[in-house]
Amino acid sequence: NRYIAIKTHVDGAPEESDFELKTSPIALSLAPASNEVIVKNLYVSIDPYQINRMKSYSSSQKNSEFAVGIVPGEAIDTYGVGKVVASGNPEFEKGDIVGGLVSWGEYSVIKPGGMLNKLNPMGFPLSYHVGVLAFSGLTAYAGFFEICKPKKGEKVFVSAASGSVGNLVGQYAKLFGCYVVGCAGSQDKVAFLKEKLGFDDAFNYKEAKDLKSTLKRYFPDGIDIYFDNVGGEMQEAAVDNMNINGRVAVCGVISEYTDDEKRAAPSMMDVIYKRIKIQGFLAGDYLNKFADFFTTTCDHLRTGDIKPLEDISEGVESIPSAFISLFRGQNVGKKMVKIAEE
Ligand code: NDP
Repeated sequence: NRYIAIKTHVDGAPEESDFELKTSPIALSLAPASNEVIVKNLYVSIDPYQINRMKSYSSSQKNSEFAVGIVPGEAIDTYGVGKVVASGNPEFEKGDIVGGLVSWGEYSVIKPGGMLNKLNPMGFPLSYHVGVLAFSGLTAYAGFFEICKPKKGEKVFVSAASGSVGNLVGQYAKLFGCYVVGCAGSQDKVAFLKEKLGFDDAFNYKEAKDLKSTLKRYFPDGIDIYFDNVGGEMQEAAVDNMNINGRVAVCGVISEYTDDEKRAAPSMMDVIYKRIKIQGFLAGDYLNKFADFFTTTCDHLRTGDIKPLEDISEGVESIPSAFISLFRGQNVGKKMVKIAEE
């Protein structure tokens, strides 16, 4: 079994040299009493939050309540889809397609009590069950509808809008009847958002001289909802442009993950006088909305109202570069790695 591990803790921006491809023996049959399940990984998810688990003890401690630190040299757990090759657990049998907490490698051994569910692909490619129909989709859906509580016609701003979560927030918001502007880090991404995904407008934040005045140009009547994927200066500028009773869903702060020094913060005077609600959330808190999200999104995918956006690398050895690409803005849509054919 070949798998990816970190060599040591990673405290800044990740580099290829932080990772190594390791090999460990794996038995592809199990004693019936073991209760374990061996899964051949097919697609594994690549997510920005993993960087917070890779930090050295002192810096990762503040995240420890939500994500257990990654140990150098050991397998790294992640969401993924795979096929059961051996099972000592009566709930699963060889050949089952499953989704759950697997690892950045070719095989995963799922211990009793580990997160694993049988998967019905519903006629969609298995990759959809790692992105648009899995946690990225749930994050966008729950974050937008449950945290932002939109009203038709409201003005929505989304950062990292061409990313996995961001593009879906924009698509749900458009379907719901909001006015949506996204920002992303290249002209190609901006064109894609406007021409292919139906955003009302979009801009390249890397070319904006001043974020506050840039947002003022795109939202002359102010922002009602900001779906924040990046934190930092963009969060400060968005709050500056928000309307009374505005809502900010703090989904992620990727601009701060590799840089611990906080350089910008929203004005609390704005928050008070404009009665702005700023709320962080975790998709995992909204598993009770999963069935609702899943049915709605399957319907939208079938009608073509939601376009799945995927960015798939191939082979276990491509995991480090796939992960690093997130922090360099090189991905468009859900980043994942295809490990093997079904
Ligand atoms: P994305 O697919 O959006 O990939 C990350 C993107 O972030 C990049 O493509 C890049 O796009 C942008 N980016 C990278 N570095 C910076 C930076 N320094 N400043 C601004 N933008 C940057 O990832 P996901 O959709 O998986 O995740 C988006 C956010 O949501 C992350 O912050 C993540 O941690 C968070 N998240 C939170 C969850 C929750 O439960 N709360 C669940 C899932 C994700 P660009 O071209 O725009 O620069």
